[in-house]
Amino acid sequence: PPPGSPDIVIARAVTPRPITEVAARLGIAPSDLLPYGHTKAKLPHAFTDDLAERPRGKLVLVTSITPTPAGEGKTTATVGLGDGLNRLGHRAAICLREPSLGPCFGMKGGAAGGGRSQVIPMEDINLHFTGDFHAITSAHNLLAALIDNHLHWGNELNLDPERITWKRAMDMNDRALRHLTVGQGGQSVPRSDGFDITAASEIMAILCLAHDLDDLQRRLGEIVVARTRDGAPVLARDLKADGAMAALLRQALAPNLVQTLEHNPAFVHGGPFANIAHGCNSVMATRSALALADVVVTEAGFGADLGAEKFFNIKCRQAGLAPNAVVVVATLRALKMHGGVDKEALDQPDPQAVRRGTANLARHVENIRSFGVPLVVAVNQYDQDSDEEHAVLREACEAMGVEMTVSSHWRDGSAGSEALAERVAALLDAPTTAPTLTYADETSLVDKVRSIATRLYGAADISLEDRARRQLEEYEALGYGHLPVCIAKTQYSFAADPELRGLVEGHVLPIREAELAAGAGFVVILCGAIMRMPGMPRHPASDGMRLDEAGEIEGLS
Ligand code: ADP
Ligand code: MG
Repeated sequence: PPPGSPDIVIARAVTPRPITEVAARLGIAPSDLLPYGHTKAKLPHAFTDDLAERPRGKLVLVTSITPTPAGEGKTTATVGLGDGLNRLGHRAAICLREPSLGPCFGMKGGAAGGGRSQVIPMEDINLHFTGDFHAITSAHNLLAALIDNHLHWGNELNLDPERITWKRAMDMNDRALRHLTVGQGGQSVPRSDGFDITAASEIMAILCLAHDLDDLQRRLGEIVVARTRDGAPVLARDLKADGAMAALLRQALAPNLVQTLEHNPAFVHGGPFANIAHGCNSVMATRSALALADVVVTEAGFGADLGAEKFFNIKCRQAGLAPNAVVVVATLRALKMHGGVDKEALDQPDPQAVRRGTANLARHVENIRSFGVPLVVAVNQYDQDSDEEHAVLREACEAMGVEMTVSSHWRDGSAGSEALAERVAALLDAPTTAPTLTYADETSLVDKVRSIATRLYGAADISLEDRARRQLEEYEALGYGHLPVCIAKTQYSFAADPELRGLVEGHVLPIREAELAAGAGFVVILCGAIMRMPGMPRHPASDGMRLDEAGEIEGLS
């Protein structure tokens, strides 16, 4: 198919290799695979347990500047860079998150890359895949059912029905389920409740941060679901829910292996959002990939202020990972948006707007440098990009002292990402060093938030609503003060206001509320209205999907 064909048409034109062949490239024997059909497999626990002792490959993080709503191409760049490294002869694997059905049918469409940089089978990966989201949803709702059952049978633990924080979960954008009353009709204790999307469930974050089955079960037990009428926390363990939840999640914790369009290994596992959660794929998959490949390329969600910050301060902190290089993806579209251009005019050449927009890139570059990891800027090339605009951007990158490479992997696959792969490979010769994290464990929760806001967002300070202040004080008193913070902020700005584009400085970051995610091992900090259950747009992506005469899926992208 010609460049620009729908993703699914490009994907279907490639015949996937048997997954055993892809696994063999990583030295995995067929007997060490748990196949899900011919083109997908999990790595069973007996196998991944033994990987812990192996030497580690080099780790590359892909992140981006502050994005437009369409996304700037991190997933695509991750796939393209992985294929480019393999083309150069490196044994490289990629690590991605699993798509959620919410964005898939809602605003954004699927999340398996695009153009000639995709993971396949994309229909399966986007829809149902190996059932991990189902398992997470089930474990989440088992705990919810056990809470209401406990109330029904006399409430021995003295739960306060007004202070139950554990809601229901479902993997769909459905705004009608945000707030509801359960227990109507006199069969159960009536109380307010609601649904969160599965990607926002604490179970998703737990699955992605757990490093083995023991750790999974321990973390599930730590989840705080409610308060007693005396205000004491009630844990999932108190409801004896942890064991059964772990049983439901046992298979889901095993990393999934698939392939790119160029048949290179891709681990697609776990799918937490990057606002309400930490936004990267599972520790199990990243660690397994590092034990099996020489280079691992992975993506963190949203812009670098959210995804990369959490990748370092939450994932690397908890899992002891040390990235060797960072790729910051930029597009001329997003730079023009930061330079003040309207959404409708982003495809028109405008070198001056690109120049103004580089202020946004400059702060992300500075932020990545604060972690002490070398970086390159990858310009995700669109057909309408002009040479003059690239030249302006190159000049700005030179002024920042950072290398910039234009990459056409979306159009050309690994042939288009070779230059980027060479640049990245050159950074990997340096010895691995632990990243410089933004704050220490011992720093108070408030100061952790302040250090991110002032050092990374460019804020002058933070402001705490009384409710947030009380919650943070309570978490410290309960012994959770050592946890990292997970800031839930809009992805469209360095500030909490999505309309403030470009470089925002000297603002005050408003903290509305906090939430304890003791099982995941972080404290969520809510800035502004953050959706845990998104809605669909007027014309959802699902409108364009159907089965054709041959029974194949059309319109999935
Ligand atoms: P992110 O991971 O940053 O959200 P994706 O890699 O998923 O972004 O890309 C978002 C969308 O943009 C996808 O549908 C992808 O196919 C499309 N896209 C990415 N790069 C290009 C490009 N260079 N030209 C045209 N479309 C692109
Ligand atoms: Mg992505």
